[in-house]
Amino acid sequence: MDVRAGGINLNRSEKKSPALFEQIEEMVEWLASFGKNENNGVTRPLYSQDWQFAQQALKERMEEAGLHAYYDDVGNLFGRLTGKQEKAPTILTGSHIDTVVNGGKYDGAYGVIAGLIAVQYLYEHFGLPEKNIEVVSLCEEEGSRFPMTYWGSGSITGIKSFEDVQNLKDSSGISFVEAMRQAGFGQGNYPQPQRNDLDCFIELHIEQGEVLERERTSIGVVSHIVGQRRYNVTVIGESNHAGTTPMGWRKDAMYAATELIQVLIQKAKETSPDLVATVGQIALEPNVSNVIPGKATFSMDIRHSDEKILFQFCDDIFKEFGLIANRHDTQLSIHNWMNEKPIEMSEELNRISESILKNESVSYKKMTSGAGHDSQIFAPFCPTALLFVPSHKGISHSPYEFTRTEDLEKGIQLLIKVLYDLAY
Ligand SMILES: [Zn+2]
Repeated sequence: MDVRAGGINLNRSEKKSPALFEQIEEMVEWLASFGKNENNGVTRPLYSQDWQFAQQALKERMEEAGLHAYYDDVGNLFGRLTGKQEKAPTILTGSHIDTVVNGGKYDGAYGVIAGLIAVQYLYEHFGLPEKNIEVVSLCEEEGSRFPMTYWGSGSITGIKSFEDVQNLKDSSGISFVEAMRQAGFGQGNYPQPQRNDLDCFIELHIEQGEVLERERTSIGVVSHIVGQRRYNVTVIGESNHAGTTPMGWRKDAMYAATELIQVLIQKAKETSPDLVATVGQIALEPNVSNVIPGKATFSMDIRHSDEKILFQFCDDIFKEFGLIANRHDTQLSIHNWMNEKPIEMSEELNRISESILKNESVSYKKMTSGAGHDSQIFAPFCPTALLFVPSHKGISHSPYEFTRTEDLEKGIQLLIKVLYDLAY
C-alpha cells in the first residue's frame, strides 16, 4: 500500500496536512509545559517531579492513542503497538525526556513526540502493523543531574546497570538510588530494562547545529556520530619577575601555549572540513599580572567521524607540539582523558530514508553528528538511524532553541514512511 493513500505528502507545498501540523504544535507546547521556567526554558532533570509528571502524561497520551503503555524499572516509558506477527522483533523509535537546566522545548522531546504522532498516524490509517512498533521516552540522556549519561539507552542495551549508579549523588546530595526510588523505580515493580527483542532503533532529533538551516536543507541523514579525543595539555616553563627578566631569557609557559593553540587550530582547518578542534579551557599559574606564567594548562577537544584521521591528526599535532615546546625552552605534559570511537549508523536504514526523501523530492544531506545522542548507544546493539531536522541558528540547550513546525513536520512525515516500510 502506498503511504500517500493516507493523504500524507512529504512536500507541504504540494499538499498540506493541517491536522498533523496542528498536532505537532500542540504537543511541543504541551510537553514543554512540564518543567517550564518563567523565562520559557524547560528544566526536567531525571526523576524530578516535573520529569515524573511529563512521563505520566505521556503514558496517558500513549494509551489514548491505543498503545499499550508501560515503564521499565529505570523509568523508560514505552508505548507498544503489537504487530500481527507477535513474535517478530520490535522496531523502536523515540528519544529522551530529560533536559539540561533551562533547556529548550525540542532537544529529546521532539523525538518522543515524533514517535508518538507517527505511530498514532500509522495505526489510525493502516491498522495493525506486521511487526511490533514501540515508541520510547528514554528516562535520561543529558547527564545534567547526576554524573551519568545515557542511563536510559544504556540500561536497555545492557551496558549500564544499577551498580554503575550506586555511589552517584546530585549537587544537593540526593543519591541516584534514592531519587530513583522516590520516583517509583529501581525496586523491581516494573520489567527489567534490558531488551533482546529489538529489530532496530530510529531517533529523530533536532540538529543542534546550523548546517541544515544555512544550507536550506530539510533533513539530515546521519552517517556517523563523530569520535572524540580530549586532552589536557600542560606547558611547564619558569615563573619569574615580569620587570627584571629580559625577554630573551624567559621560559614563558603562556607564550608557548599560545603558539601551540595557534598551530592546533590552523592545522585543524587545513586537515578536513569535518575535523573540529577546540580549546575551551585554559589555566595559568600563578595567574598574577606581574609574574611570567610558569605553567599553562589548556584543554583540547578533537572530533572527526573517521578514527584514522583522528589518530593521525593527534599524532601529527603532538610531534609539532614537541618541537614548539623545545623552541620555547619549556616542557610538555599531555594527558588523554577521553577516547570515544566514531559510531556508524545503519547504512540499510539510511538507504530507506534516502530513497523516501528522493522520491518525495525533499532536500537532505548525509552528515555526521558532532554531538552525542542515544543513537550511539543503540548503534553497536541493533541497526540504528539518527535523523536531523534544522535548528534555528544552531542554538540548543537554551530557551532560544527553535525549529519551525514545517521542519518538524517534514521529519515526522519521513518517520511515518520509514516505519511504514519497516513494519507494514
Ligand atoms: Zn538530545
